[in-house]
Amino acid sequence: MSVEATVQKYYQKVLQRNPGEPEFHQAVHEVLDSLRYVLAKDPFYAEQGLLDRMTEPERQIIFRVPWVDDAGNVQVNRGFRVQFNSALGPYKGGLRFHPSVNLGIIKFLGFEQIFKNSLTGLPIGGGKGGSDFDPKGKSDREIMAFCQSFMTELHRHIGEYRDVPAGDIGVGGREIGFLFGQYRRMANQHESGVLTGKGLTWGGSLVRTEATGYGTVYFTQEMMKEHKERLDGARVVVSGSGNVAVYAIQKAQELGATVVAFSDSSGYVHTPDGVDVALLKEVKEVKRERVSDYARQVDGATFHENGNIWEVECDVALPCATQNELDGESARTLADNGCKYVAEGANMPSTAEAIEVFRKRNIRFAPGKAANAGGVSTSALEMQQNASRDSWSFEYTDKRLQGIMRNIFQNCSNTAAEYGQEGDYIIGANIAGFKKVADAMLAQGII
Ligand code: NDP
Repeated sequence: MSVEATVQKYYQKVLQRNPGEPEFHQAVHEVLDSLRYVLAKDPFYAEQGLLDRMTEPERQIIFRVPWVDDAGNVQVNRGFRVQFNSALGPYKGGLRFHPSVNLGIIKFLGFEQIFKNSLTGLPIGGGKGGSDFDPKGKSDREIMAFCQSFMTELHRHIGEYRDVPAGDIGVGGREIGFLFGQYRRMANQHESGVLTGKGLTWGGSLVRTEATGYGTVYFTQEMMKEHKERLDGARVVVSGSGNVAVYAIQKAQELGATVVAFSDSSGYVHTPDGVDVALLKEVKEVKRERVSDYARQVDGATFHENGNIWEVECDVALPCATQNELDGESARTLADNGCKYVAEGANMPSTAEAIEVFRKRNIRFAPGKAANAGGVSTSALEMQQNASRDSWSFEYTDKRLQGIMRNIFQNCSNTAAEYGQEGDYIIGANIAGFKKVADAMLAQGII
């Protein structure tokens, strides 16, 4: 069978076995598309049911999450944990609380996580979880009630050597605190390595909060260096205004760039003179307000309700909000406006069509599984600190993060070149991430 036919056969099987899960199909398609280069060279990767096994989660858990709101009404949400692949280490991946969450979204995120975690070079498998719970507008007590109920079921499935969740959309320090407290109570032990993103006084790691955003910028820096350009002086657009976006904005500006726009789901803020990061943090992290509230307080910043952030002229675009937020049309607009680099802080924010446009228009593109791997890498560093009852300085941890991002970049770049696809970091990331997991699975037998 030709490589093309083999790839098609596996993709069709995934479509048939997982109906109604378009984001999962998209994530699998992107990886299989890159694997044609591997299969042409090393056809044994299609043997022993390897690709069937890799696209089927080891375990999927779906559960009821009942809780009582402030008005005394019973609410019921759905909880998920997909334990996708533990060939390299315990399942590792965040929890997302957002009304759009369903099994297909968690499977796409868990699938991506396998290859991302492999790329970090650290011993972690891939998993993801979450709930269709919407934290927006909820009181702290409601958030706590939900987190406690969620963990009452989840606790039996996780553990420092089994599965180690962290944050994602809608899950930050506050939620990790409530989740950890309930786990500790139910397990009757202070098992600090069971969750990452913890508070600094109870097992958390310095730099974890900043890591995904910082890491995305470190990766961007490496990519620009390879093309003899610098971030210093560049105009950068960052979508989103959550954990990833805020620290991407901070690091980009520290390195001399001007961040000219950021957003939330209601619109974007145009900031031609750059972002006041201290104010943005206060608006988002302390007051939990909207980006329009930021714009109201800054001269020269304008809020564009429901506007398309990708219409703002820039040299570098960092999508840091959510999946499929950057489509083909937006990619063309970016290219027309002279954008030369795109690095994904979010997971799969660019549609397949957008990626095609980037390739055609010669925009250098860093896929999320490589560019945003700084978050999970620092989570793995948090696990190392927990295991050795140690805590490292900010400078040391940040150096480790920078080293990891540099290695991931080199690995993507070298692997792409090895397969004759120089400069195509998607192909490089998918192949490098895949081979390590595949080799481990082949060595461990058919399980
Ligand atoms: P947060 O919840 O902190 O922030 C999410 C941001 O994205 C908010 O500004 C939110 O706006 C916006 N957003 C979410 N959904 C949508 C939507 N449907 N349309 C438009 N905007 C939206 O999440 P994070 O910053 O942690 O995560 C952002 C992305 O980064 C996700 O794709 C996540 O999977 C990925 N990621 C996160 C990591 C981490 O360490 N946190 C690690 C690696 C990847 P609003 O407030 O209006 O909803």
